[in-house]
Amino acid sequence: MAASNLPLDGDRLWADIMDLAALTEPDRPYTRRSFTPLFLQGRDLVAKRFAEAGLTVRIDAAGNMIGRLEGANPSLGVIAVGSHSDTVPAGGRFDGIAGLATALEVVRALRDQGVRLDHTIEVVDFLAEEPSEYGLSCIGSRGMAGVLEPSMLEMTEPGGETLRTALRRVGGDPDRLAEARRSDIKAFLELHIEQGIVLESQGLDVGIVTSLVGIRRMEIVFEGAADHAGTTPMHLRQDALVAGARTAASVRAIAEQLAGEGQGYFVATVGIFNVEPGASNIVPGRCRLVIDARSTNPVLSARFVEAIEQESAAHAAAVRVRRVPIATLSDSKPVICDETVRAAMHQGARDLGLNSTDLASGAGHDAGFMSRICKSAMVFVPCKGGKSHVPEEWSDREQIAAGAAVILQAVKALDKTLS
Ligand SMILES: [Zn+2]
Repeated sequence: MAASNLPLDGDRLWADIMDLAALTEPDRPYTRRSFTPLFLQGRDLVAKRFAEAGLTVRIDAAGNMIGRLEGANPSLGVIAVGSHSDTVPAGGRFDGIAGLATALEVVRALRDQGVRLDHTIEVVDFLAEEPSEYGLSCIGSRGMAGVLEPSMLEMTEPGGETLRTALRRVGGDPDRLAEARRSDIKAFLELHIEQGIVLESQGLDVGIVTSLVGIRRMEIVFEGAADHAGTTPMHLRQDALVAGARTAASVRAIAEQLAGEGQGYFVATVGIFNVEPGASNIVPGRCRLVIDARSTNPVLSARFVEAIEQESAAHAAAVRVRRVPIATLSDSKPVICDETVRAAMHQGARDLGLNSTDLASGAGHDAGFMSRICKSAMVFVPCKGGKSHVPEEWSDREQIAAGAAVILQAVKALDKTLS
């Protein structure tokens, strides 16, 4: 469908995205890291646009920038729409920003149409969705969900500054974090680029997200013996790398097996693989792997862990090295998106004549934390070649406008149907 037929201004939405993109580290587009002066510059622009759209702007205790427009019946609570304005280093122009600009455009389109919602609407720029220099991601949405723990505030960036101090620097209040937790939000909607190739390869306009994967990171260490590569006979070696390499192959094979069963989304990756001492003439004495396993189905995750336990132990025994007990570095549960909000999104897409499909999200998003406190769901729009977190990241103006229109229709519908 042509963007001109959509019930919002795709050009105005696009301009916001491009204006934020211009605020980048010049030598490293597109970089606007959370907590930096550039990030605050971006937020100045966001605040200005919020105000121009008629929103009252504030920053909550968790550092989220919130634009608010009171509803006709404020006792109904809040419908929130948003995403994030921070980027990864040398990232793209659309990850997060497209969703934030969409939320803003939804408010402007409602105003243009003369529609005042019964619910209060809030547009949210969540603080630091991407992993920050303090080692934590989704800081703002954690805060809004009431799970930003005091211990997390003591995390530090390489220069030694604590998150507590940094939070104050961006307008938050670490001493009043409890006030950031919300119970008045009834629904949360987020548009995001897909960061994958399903929509593009199938020629679809939007994906309505069914669930967000749970992510488990596991560390496996093999300890053998670092011996001379020339004088140690093959049958006497304790080569830790061989056990590690075989385990990496097992990760791949088990993941392919689980993904193929049709019981839910499953992917697993060995993204870190260290060998010590790492010299060409020494048998590797130590090998360390970090596995990132993601699934929408906890049963698949549990089976993966069990299979890796067994196979890595067998690989260690086969080459007579020791496997240190497997460490779980992190483990987040999958999130199921809300049925009511998803149905409103599907209906919105149908009404607009757009093609939609159900889709699992292989990445985490602010919507994952928001789902702990309110009905939450996401709309994905296609992105070129599935590329994200790189400067080439791209979505077309019409693609984003179409996804934004789905959010707009869903907001209007939910305003009437949410009790
Ligand atoms: Zn994002």
